[in-house]
Amino acid sequence: MTRRAKIVATLGPALDDREKLRAAVEAGIDVVRLNFSHGDHDTHARRLETVRELGQRLGRNVGCLADLQGPKIRLGMLPDPGIEIVTGGEVYLHPGVEELDAYESEGLPALPVVYEALADDVTPGSLMLIDDGSLRLVASRVEDGVVRARVVAGGLAKSRKGLNLPGVKVSAPCLTEKDIEDLEFANQLGADWVALSFVRTPDDIMDVRERIKALNGESPVIAKLERPEAIENLTDIIDVTDAVMVARGDLGVEIGPERVPAIQKEIIAEANAESRPVITATEMLDSMINSPRPTRAEASDVANAIFDGTDAVMLSGETAAGSYPVEAVRTMARIVEVAERSPHLIHPSPPPHSELSVSRVVAQSAVQVARDVQATAIVAFSMTGWSVQLVSKMRPEMPLVGLTPSARAHGRTALMWGTEAALVPMKDRAQELLQAAEKVLLDGNWAATGDTVVMVTGPPGSLGGTSRIWVHRVGDEIIH
Ligand code: PEP
Repeated sequence: MTRRAKIVATLGPALDDREKLRAAVEAGIDVVRLNFSHGDHDTHARRLETVRELGQRLGRNVGCLADLQGPKIRLGMLPDPGIEIVTGGEVYLHPGVEELDAYESEGLPALPVVYEALADDVTPGSLMLIDDGSLRLVASRVEDGVVRARVVAGGLAKSRKGLNLPGVKVSAPCLTEKDIEDLEFANQLGADWVALSFVRTPDDIMDVRERIKALNGESPVIAKLERPEAIENLTDIIDVTDAVMVARGDLGVEIGPERVPAIQKEIIAEANAESRPVITATEMLDSMINSPRPTRAEASDVANAIFDGTDAVMLSGETAAGSYPVEAVRTMARIVEVAERSPHLIHPSPPPHSELSVSRVVAQSAVQVARDVQATAIVAFSMTGWSVQLVSKMRPEMPLVGLTPSARAHGRTALMWGTEAALVPMKDRAQELLQAAEKVLLDGNWAATGDTVVMVTGPPGSLGGTSRIWVHRVGDEIIH
């Protein structure tokens, strides 16, 4: 069975063993995610080097996604095993500090928070959620730069756990000092995609784009949708971003888990209508962190993301820190393959031509032509990967092969639904382009002599948009 939706796997200690990583790549990893919330630069570089070497050896195009931490608010360090905070009691939160001299103040527990502006941003009544919402506090007083809060749901507060402020306008910029350093490093690594956490507005995307440009980089940007403001600004964010991620972990804490399923569908539908790749992320096979088998609910979750029309599904703790990382990739691949053969997989009709750019009309028409002539494969030639992306979003039933002379575009296509990719030298003439395509199709067993194939390109040798459709029988003389 061939799988069309892509698998993103987060790297971490669980896949540091080379043999395990090789098995996981063979099992179906399409894109690795370097999570800059954890690990140092040397570790990320070493992991990526091994992935690239394995990809070459196994003949797999494995892309790389650099995920910037963003303004994630966390508790500082606490004495082991943590500090018990009691439901109905009160606590003090001390902003902008990593550690405290004393973890008690006026007889109440005191917690350090590594976010300087906490006391500026919250007001009495603000909800504060610790550790994915397992501990719930409501601010009661803000005085002398310290926040006093009522404990609505208590428990053990542990070092470095996340603190979410749903409904609070967080003043921290989307890119922190750490993100700016990590972005520079991701650029040096040649990351195929850069993901931006806690995006709130289109300006957040424009800012990171400018910075990538200033670094002479060209990584496209993925907006991680996990703040309520991002959902309010969804259309405008999708308009300016290159791709989106339904970051269900923080999103669920911020807006409540019960709202996530419908918002996931809304995000995927909008991203598909605008031809932006969309990744559905977090807790997809969470129980496989500790178990070799998924729950039925998890299998349904992965399959439903496929039915919703996602381009990619993502593994986080399962492959970064779990006990069964290879099994998790294998399981996810199997669930996706079976879901893709189900009658429940219905791709929504693309928007009418009158609403589309010329490139999208051409891409859409190319897929229709390929269907009508019963083409064996469809080939998209692209300098940036954009034409390949446009064709991918039309969900062709036949293999889609992206041809590009750019190593960067080649890496990008790893995230694109249903796309195989090959690097070919830059071609100036249509005839040479067709010849190169024919060779790739035959070498990769995508088509055989006598098969009809469809090719979509811009003007050969230029950066122009997608404008041409060719129907060609493999082996026929190429005259132009
Ligand atoms: C998420 O919150 O779902 C997510 C993908 O972000 P991170 O794993 O970086 O917290």
